Amino acid sequence: MNVKDIMKKAGIVGAGGAGFPSYAKIAEGADLLVVNGAECEPLFYTDYYLMLRQMPMILAGIQKVLEDTGIKNALFCVKEHSAKKLGYSDGEKLAQNIYLKVLPDVYPLGDEISLIYQATGRLIRPGNLPISKGVIVYNVETLYNLGLAVKKDASVTMKWLTIGGEVPQPFVVRVPVGTPIADIFAKYSITIPDGHVVLDGGPSMGKIINANRAVVTKTTKGILILPENTQSVQAKMLNGEKSIARAETACCQCTRCTDMCPRALLGYPLEPHKMVRTSPGAVKFNPQMVITATLCCGCGICESLACCQAISPKAVINEYKALLAKNKLRYTAKEDVEVSHERDWRMVPSSRWASVLGVAKYDVEPVFKGEDDGFDRVEINLRQHIGLASVPVVKDGDVVEKGDLIAESANGLSVPQYASISGTVTIEEGVKIIIDRVNK
Ligand code: SF4
Ligand code: SF4
Repeated sequence: MNVKDIMKKAGIVGAGGAGFPSYAKIAEGADLLVVNGAECEPLFYTDYYLMLRQMPMILAGIQKVLEDTGIKNALFCVKEHSAKKLGYSDGEKLAQNIYLKVLPDVYPLGDEISLIYQATGRLIRPGNLPISKGVIVYNVETLYNLGLAVKKDASVTMKWLTIGGEVPQPFVVRVPVGTPIADIFAKYSITIPDGHVVLDGGPSMGKIINANRAVVTKTTKGILILPENTQSVQAKMLNGEKSIARAETACCQCTRCTDMCPRALLGYPLEPHKMVRTSPGAVKFNPQMVITATLCCGCGICESLACCQAISPKAVINEYKALLAKNKLRYTAKEDVEVSHERDWRMVPSSRWASVLGVAKYDVEPVFKGEDDGFDRVEINLRQHIGLASVPVVKDGDVVEKGDLIAESANGLSVPQYASISGTVTIEEGVKIIIDRVNK
């Protein structure tokens, strides 16, 4: 079976956050595979431990992509601090046609546009896909999942994640897809202190979740418990409406948000300082006015580091992104752009970023727990990827074994889902498939 079919059959989606079905990235015209091991979010060690302990499986995935696509080389990108701990050096050959690329310790290089530029010097035109410059990017865990599919015919049923923040001991563990977060906390004696919130994702780009209802998905990289008064959490509580109101009174148009925006520094025509001063009423009437909002990668530098007036340009831009999506509008450049000569010295050191977000004190290397599939219930969302929801092929009361197909790919951009534990099925129509372990 070729790599595209294997990825689709195994239900592999981008494990680095967005959940784009991986098979759909394979296209004609690619000459370079960029492996994203940058792990940019502070406190996360998920990819680090995968690289430390599962490198042969990651390399097997990379080799399959190279063999089946005709791509000549892979650049395996890791940040300087990880490379040092893993004992790798820049340019090192990891396997046939796979070379290591050491990235500087700056934020946000996990963003694939910044990553590609930093690693290769190729600059993707604003709004275009990496394939337009011959590049395909996969996260290390995505390639690890491919390695498992190639070597062991395994589908995606488990997920690696970091549990960190205000916990007795941060750890990295692999649990079944669909495991309730509350069950993980209960099993590992984790309680949420008063005045704290739980994030799915990192302090920069993660979302505040209800830990009593949330479950692990194919894209969950980590779960953090953080105090509400942390800068990182405060920024997430600033919504677009509040930010627009603040901007109307407090924005001094200093332009720092634009000066420090990593996408603007790449020459993208994104100007957050103008976004915050654009009339929301006018935008509703003419969303085209803010079409460059679709170029924002959501890194949060504008809100957490640049703005001294507690305005969140990111939150304002998120509102505009939603409006643009509703109107099916997206900025796509036809011409190349030029990187700002100021970019090199305006990049944010990773350690500074952790301090700015107020999470530096939680940055301790987690304990590695390995695989834990001792959970009695999973809730597998039918849509945990970009595209169409998977379609159930089981019904209420069916008994399934771990690894059985429970939902097939919809007709379009979609992937199938597999049982992550053995047990009895309950369907929540159009939303999820619940499996309760038999003989608890
Ligand atoms: S979040 Fe802010 S700094 Fe980051 S890309 Fe978007 S506008 Fe630029
Ligand atoms: S950094 Fe803050 S005050 Fe300055 S232009 Fe941007 S939103 Fe306005």
